Amino acid sequence: MITVIGLGFVGLTTALGFSDKGYNVYGYDIDQKKQDELRKGSIPFYEPYLEEKLTEHLNENFTIIDDLQEAVNNSEVIFFCVGTPSEKDGGAYLGYILDAIKSVTAHIRKPHFKVLVIKSTIPPSSTSGIIKQYIENLGFKIGVDIGLTNNPEFLREGYAWYDFMNPDRIVIGQEEDKGGQIVGKIYQAFNAPIYRVTLNTAEFIKYLSNTLLSTLISFSNEQSLIARSIGNIDIKNAFQILHLDRRWFGTPANMTSYVYPGCGFGGYCLPKDTMALVRQSLKNSYSPELLKSTLKVNETIKEFVVSDVAGKVNKEEKIGILGLSFKPNSNDIRGTQAKAIIEGLIKKGYKNIIAYDPMAIEEFKAAYNLPIEYSSNLKSLLSSVDHVVILTAWDEFIKNEESIRKKNVFDYRYIYN
Ligand code: NAD
Repeated sequence: MITVIGLGFVGLTTALGFSDKGYNVYGYDIDQKKQDELRKGSIPFYEPYLEEKLTEHLNENFTIIDDLQEAVNNSEVIFFCVGTPSEKDGGAYLGYILDAIKSVTAHIRKPHFKVLVIKSTIPPSSTSGIIKQYIENLGFKIGVDIGLTNNPEFLREGYAWYDFMNPDRIVIGQEEDKGGQIVGKIYQAFNAPIYRVTLNTAEFIKYLSNTLLSTLISFSNEQSLIARSIGNIDIKNAFQILHLDRRWFGTPANMTSYVYPGCGFGGYCLPKDTMALVRQSLKNSYSPELLKSTLKVNETIKEFVVSDVAGKVNKEEKIGILGLSFKPNSNDIRGTQAKAIIEGLIKKGYKNIIAYDPMAIEEFKAAYNLPIEYSSNLKSLLSSVDHVVILTAWDEFIKNEESIRKKNVFDYRYIYN
C-alpha cells in the first residue's frame, strides 16, 4: 500500500502510475474541490492519458481519501508531491511539505516503520537539514522509527504519463539503507536503472537537470540577441544547422562530454572564440551576460583548483601534475588549463612541482618555460610525489587508477568513482 499526498501533476501521475503497476494506492489532497472533482473522475488540469487511467483505477486500486489516518495506517510508503513554490527571495517554500509531514506523522504509531518519500523538488540539503530536523523534532528517529528518502521526479508536463511509466532513471536519495531499500523495491516494477545516492545528491540531480535546461534556453535566447545585434543572420537556420552537429547524436563524439565538470575549457578555439563573440557583440551594443559569465567561470574554476590544493598541501611537499594538454588525445597546449593552474601554484609558493603528460611535455616546456620538473613516465612521477593533481582526463590515468590512488589524488576531471 502506498499513499500519495498532493494530487497535482506529479502526485496524480505518481498515484495512478503505481496503481497501474498493481499497487493499492491512497491519494490525498488538501484542496477539497480538487478531491471532489477527481472523485467524479475528472481532472482539473490538462494531461494526456490521466483521465482514462483515473477512470480505470478509481475505486479499484486507487482510493481518494479524506481520512489520512486510514491511509497512513495501511501504507508502508508515503509519497509527498505537494507544491514548492518560490518565496519572495527566490528560495523554495517548504511550508506545504512540512505541513503535510506534520499531518501524516500525527498518524504514525511506533514501532510501525513507514518510509516518507519527498518527491517534490526541493533545494539540495533540504531533506538532510530542515526536513530531517523537523521530523526529529516531532519525536521520530530517522532510520529507527521512520524512513526518510527523496525521489526527484523528472516527468515533463504534457508527457507526464509516458515519462512516469517509462523512466530513464530512478533516483532515490537516502541517509540510511532501510528506507532506500523499501522505495527501491517499489520501483523495481518499472524496469529502469535505480540509483541510490545521498539525500543531497538526489536533490542536486534534479536541479542539475532543470538548471541545465534553463541555461540552454537562455544560452539560445542570448545567442539570438547577439545575432540580432550583429544583423543579417538567419537565426532559425543557424540553430537548425547547429542541431546537425554529430555530437548531439553521440557518434563518434558526444555532447555529454561537454556537460561534465572539470577544471576549465582551454585549447586554441573555445577561449579565443568565446572572447571574440563577446567583443563583437559589445561592439554592436549588446552585452552578452551569459557568455561573459562563461568566461568568468572558466577563470573561477582554475582559481578554485589552486586554492583547493593550497588549502591541503604544504608548500614543501612535492606535487605531481598529471596532464598538460588541454584535452586528452591531443598534444595541443595552447590555452591549456595546466599552465594557469601551475602558475597559480608557483605564485602561492609551491616550488616542488613535477609534471607528466603522455604526449605534450615537449610542447608545454617549449611554450611556457615554467620552473618545474618533468617526468618522462607516470611510474617515475608517482615514485617521487605524495600528491597528484589530475588536470587532463587521459586514458592512461584512468587505466592506472590503482597505482595513482596510492597517492593523495586531486581528481579535478572526475575520472574516478
Ligand atoms: P501542483 O501545484 O500541481 O500540485 C500540488 C498539490 O499539492 C496541489 O493539488 C495542492 O492542493 C496539494 N497540497 C498542498 N499542500 C498540501 C498538503 N499539506 N496536503 C495535501 N496536499 C497538499 O504541483 P505539481 O506540478 O504536481 O508539482 C509538485 C512538486 O513536484 C513541486 O515541487 C514541483 O516542483 C515538482 N515537479 C513538478 C513537475 C511538473 O512538471 N509539474 C515535474 C517534476 C517535479
